[in-house]
Amino acid sequence: MTQRRDAGTTWSGNHRYRATEVLLPGDVDELAEVVASARTLRVQATRHTFNDVADSDASLVSLERLPTRVEMVGDRVRVEGLVTFAQLAPVLEAEGRALHNLGSLPHISIVGATATGTHGSGVRNGNLSSALRAVEIMDADGRTHRIDHTHEWFGAAALSLGALGVVTAVELQTEPTYEVTQQAYTGVAWEDIVGDIEGVFGGSRSVSVFTTWGDPEHDLVWAKSDDGAPSWVEEIGGRAVGDDIHLGRIRTVDNTTPRGTPGPWHTRLPHFRADALPSDGDEIQSEYFVPLASAREALAAVRALASTFDDQLLVTELRTVAADELWLSPAYQRDVMVIHFTWRNDTDGVLAVLPAIEQALAPFDARPHWGKAFTMPGERILSTLPRSGDFLAVAREIDPRGVFRNDYLRRTLGL
Ligand SMILES: Cc1cc2nc3c(=O)[nH]c(=O)nc-3n(C[C@H](O)[C@H](O)[C@H](O)COP(=O)(O)OP(=O)(O)OC[C@H]3O[C@@H](n4cnc5c(N)ncnc54)[C@H](O)[C@@H]3O)c2cc1C
Repeated sequence: MTQRRDAGTTWSGNHRYRATEVLLPGDVDELAEVVASARTLRVQATRHTFNDVADSDASLVSLERLPTRVEMVGDRVRVEGLVTFAQLAPVLEAEGRALHNLGSLPHISIVGATATGTHGSGVRNGNLSSALRAVEIMDADGRTHRIDHTHEWFGAAALSLGALGVVTAVELQTEPTYEVTQQAYTGVAWEDIVGDIEGVFGGSRSVSVFTTWGDPEHDLVWAKSDDGAPSWVEEIGGRAVGDDIHLGRIRTVDNTTPRGTPGPWHTRLPHFRADALPSDGDEIQSEYFVPLASAREALAAVRALASTFDDQLLVTELRTVAADELWLSPAYQRDVMVIHFTWRNDTDGVLAVLPAIEQALAPFDARPHWGKAFTMPGERILSTLPRSGDFLAVAREIDPRGVFRNDYLRRTLGL
């Protein structure tokens, strides 16, 4: 029988869901009944978003009581229901397989992460949605459609913001397992980073730069290599940090993945360990994606504003993501630099500083992270995404009653 619970808040507590309840069907038939009888419905997964993308003015539904089968299908893995990367990775590893990348934490659901274009770093690594090869979506009548990468709707289905229906299963591309060695370094001069962006961010499989836009001694280059230790960072002035690692104003407490020793991909690619609280916890995040080719100028534009947002900032992280073909992807058809901000958990203060940053990044056609805090008008975002009209057409066709729409989608997509 379908159970019910309170909708609660997002993981960091920055948004209290307006939805009156979360429905918890016990099997796929009950899910179909819940969906077919809903006036409006959104899916709540692991709640690691920082805005109302997952919210509803009626009910939410969670797949947490549904089966979570994981099966290899050739070189792909098919995953049903609410499974996190932390749950999937050891299963893949036992099969001698791996994913191409992971985000900064493994705690998040695979479907929720891919629904918003969640990414790690790496000039050759697409976001996590780009690993999808098929998506199974239950529509508002309770019927399930399998949309694979050859289907004309795939560009919409693999990064859908939950607007097409309930994703009941996905298939992800895997590759042979590999080891990663990571290290974090201080002492690399900002000018050496922005002077050779492709060299620094392309130096290892995955590279992040942490900064507070102030004293360079507090900056970190965190590199993750699949061909031995990333000692190239020492050649540009980097000094390996010890165990007591500060990410800007976040002092990590025994929650980061091991540095200096090789280990399986999933134990090194995320910054944060699966068995610990990631990041700061009491925070809000924002992210903007600009063309990699304009990264130097875009970073200079943000740096010029740094004093205006310093009070709110815990840390900035810079990463790269390779281009993809997903219609709403922040990396749609462009290699991007991602300018991330972890803010203090002060909604009014954060919303006050974002417009100036967005204005400064507008000349670079910046796109926001769909799951984080932003104030950019929807029309401006859609103008940077040439296939967004096609996405809206698919959403209206598969969900003509608008069951899976909410205020967020009306505001940002005009859906
Ligand atoms: C500490 C922390 C670190 C983070 N690090 C990164 C990072 O490294 N890179 C990055 O890009 N992002 C990062 N994020 C953001 C996060 O990965 C994304 O916001 C992601 O979408 C969260 O997924 P979720 O399932 O937890 O969220 P939810 O809010 O539960 O779901 C996200 C969206 O997916 C939809 N959805 C979920 N499941 C389904 C389903 N079965 N069917 C249809 N729709 C569904 C929801 O309705 C919602 O719209 C981080 C967040 C936190 C809190």
